[in-house]
Amino acid sequence: MSIEVSGLTKKFGDFVALDDVSVSLPTGQLTALLGPSGGGKSTLLRIIAGLDTADSGTVSIEGVDATGLPAQKRNVGFVFQHYAVFKHMTVAKNVAFGLEIRKRPKAEIAHRVEELLELVHLSQFSHRLPSQLSGGQRQRMALARALAVEPSVLLLDEPFGALDAKVRKELRDWLRRLHDEVHVTTVFVTHDQEEALEVADEIVVINEGRVEQVGSPDQLYDEPANDFVMGFLGEVT
Ligand code: ADP
Ligand code: MG
Repeated sequence: MSIEVSGLTKKFGDFVALDDVSVSLPTGQLTALLGPSGGGKSTLLRIIAGLDTADSGTVSIEGVDATGLPAQKRNVGFVFQHYAVFKHMTVAKNVAFGLEIRKRPKAEIAHRVEELLELVHLSQFSHRLPSQLSGGQRQRMALARALAVEPSVLLLDEPFGALDAKVRKELRDWLRRLHDEVHVTTVFVTHDQEEALEVADEIVVINEGRVEQVGSPDQLYDEPANDFVMGFLGEVT
């Protein structure tokens, strides 16, 4: 099982943001979409999520053709750089939100929220408001919220991009451990080579709307497919 992207093309006016992109993202893995700014990573993620539509091509998720399906029917969870948290709701309420709109039983919601807050190490902050959390804690809350409805796929767009370097590093290590615990298929957009190399099982290098290479961090280092990949990875400081 996997996410299968086949022949995706997306234009904005005359500009080709994605040019016939085909890639297979295996189930249970942590995959990074890596590349320079403007390369088409977010566009690809949004199309996988069902938040945007391609001009041509197909997306299938776990064997189901998702091409025409809206986001709500794709069983995906999202976290973005600037996540729209509910500012007036406590941490626990934020995490419970997706379960409450699905009318799950109260006892089940309470239990699940407790479990999730433990998973993201925010149990002692359940009654705080998001404004009373640090940036890193807020993104962990966003992850718990995305995981609440047990998505089959977790999609993260530069989730730590707005945080300072030290917190970014802490959170990327934490994301790796979290993934090892929950094994949910995760696709993670970053323009940061080091972040992708440190965290991902597999990296999809995207530039100018095309896939330059797909491989493990070792494969990318040992056998860069072309000068672009070699140059881009060479920028790691
Ligand atoms: P990345 O996430 O890799 O930085 P994006 O997928 O956000 O890149 O954008 C790829 C290209 O498509 C960029 O040149 C961007 O300006 C363009 N683009 C993205 N969204 C839109 C839009 N809604 N309208 C016009 N151009 C867009
Ligand atoms: Mg982007």
